Amino acid sequence: MGGPEVERLIGLLAKLPGFGPRSARRAALKLLQQPQARMLPLAKALADAARAVTPCGECGNLDSRDPCAICADPRRDRTVICVVEGVGDLWALERAAVHHGLYHVLGGTLSALAGTRPEDLSTAPLLRRIEAGGVSEVILALGATVDGATTAHWLADRLVASGVMVTRVGQGVPIGGALDALDDGTLAAALRARRQG
Ligand SMILES: [Zn+2]
Repeated sequence: MGGPEVERLIGLLAKLPGFGPRSARRAALKLLQQPQARMLPLAKALADAARAVTPCGECGNLDSRDPCAICADPRRDRTVICVVEGVGDLWALERAAVHHGLYHVLGGTLSALAGTRPEDLSTAPLLRRIEAGGVSEVILALGATVDGATTAHWLADRLVASGVMVTRVGQGVPIGGALDALDDGTLAAALRARRQG
């Protein structure tokens, strides 16, 4: 149906989050019916983003600038770093405008099941940022899952020697790889309810 090009397009779309074969076929059809208005601009946006966007060397955010717009913003509170599991969590917090400091993307949580080990996480760069000075608080926003809690404990232990205050977002708040699904009020409450330890 439609030839190998169309099959390939549908196959690639179907691999995207939130897409299945059916929604991929619908999206492909929409694009194919409007090549000038939809398909070519999308193809250009994809190519431009693939070329320009890289992880921020400071925090791990994805941005076309390095350091990213957040790290480069002189209005941000540089004394507070919020540690998140992934870029999606960072973007959710930014959309909700509930954190005015900097971020650090850990790149996952410790997980025996998924085989994620300490050396797989971006811990050394975080310790280097803290050692460079000027950081007074690290907020661990790693979520209430078993892996999130394990990682927060482990990371808090690693941070003790630095003398920085370590806080955790409110317990019982279902975050960690899922911040995106929370409304802004819940996010704000989670961050407000952070506690030391
Ligand atoms: Zn950054």
